[in-house]
Amino acid sequence: MAHRKRAKAPLNRKKLSVEEFLPLMLSAAAVLGVLPFAIMRFMNSEIVLGLLDSIIVVGLATLAFYLYQTRQVRIASLCISLVCVAGMIATVYLNGPDQVFWAYPAMVAVFFLVRRNEAVMITSVATVALIPALLPSLDNVRLATVFITIAVNIAFAYAFATVTRSQRDSLMRLATKDPLTGVGNRRALAEKLDSIVIGSIRMNAPASLLLIDLDHFKTVNDTHGHAVGDQILISLTKIINLRIRVTDGLYRIGGEEFVVVVEGQDIEQARRLAEQLRTLVQANELAPHSAVTVSIGVAQLQTGETGETWLNRADDALYTAKRAGRNLTRLAA
Ligand code: GH3
Ligand code: MG
Ligand code: MG
Repeated sequence: MAHRKRAKAPLNRKKLSVEEFLPLMLSAAAVLGVLPFAIMRFMNSEIVLGLLDSIIVVGLATLAFYLYQTRQVRIASLCISLVCVAGMIATVYLNGPDQVFWAYPAMVAVFFLVRRNEAVMITSVATVALIPALLPSLDNVRLATVFITIAVNIAFAYAFATVTRSQRDSLMRLATKDPLTGVGNRRALAEKLDSIVIGSIRMNAPASLLLIDLDHFKTVNDTHGHAVGDQILISLTKIINLRIRVTDGLYRIGGEEFVVVVEGQDIEQARRLAEQLRTLVQANELAPHSAVTVSIGVAQLQTGETGETWLNRADDALYTAKRAGRNLTRLAA
């Protein structure tokens, strides 16, 4: 019996992502940077300036708390950017052109927080908004210096954001895609299952998964060679991808093991899909002049279970299909 039961490896837990960490860090830094000034202003009886600094500190702290609680990164990041920039402009207007030093960190923060084009828009509007405050009190050379250095600052931040984004995209691809077939990998599946488990509690919608394992694939490799074996794996993902809906996910979680996740479908609908895939694979003659077959274990998510136990039940069903002779679909208990 070649098919063995999988070691029950733990799936990922939900931690703070980089996207969540960055705005939290930036707002913490801004709060710590502005707080001493708020205190100083009140101590010097500069009430208006003290109030402005306090609004910035409380606003950022509230947004950081909102982000931590709801994980609404987009909205929170946009609001944090706007508070930083508006606070900086208000400080320049109320406290004089020296405060323009705050423009530099505030604008860099915006590029870290929101999409590049949004950042360009926000920082450009902010730069223009500074003109009336700076024009009367700075001579031409200083004025030119301020605006040129702001422009250079924006250009560097833009370039840096571009590089960071493209590096992040390739890292994400490397971390979540299987290089041979291009479908999601085990890590991507773990995240998907976690999010379905959380979502299905809220929406009360069914979700099922199909665990698909090629039959006697070792023999297929031995007979036709490893390169043909690889080609078969690629063809298999193409066949499955053509048949499933765009909203269904396909993942490769082991050498010749795949998972199809079907949201909104109960075990009976999933069984029908499994049977269609199984007969489709058999009919496609994936190996030269011979059929390659798959065995499939199907499991519907039960209330109260984790992604891990859900997958393990599908694995038990797959094991039953293998024992019953292969090229079969079996349902989990
Ligand atoms: P069973 O029907 O019980 O599943 O038998 P099996 O031979 O498919 O199962 P087993 O787990 O013993 O062997 C899996 C084989 O899959 C071993 C290996 O040769 C092959 N395999 C795993 N990963 C790859 C891969 O990336 N490319 C190729 N060509 N073969 C692979
Ligand atoms: Mg196999
Ligand atoms: Mg296997």
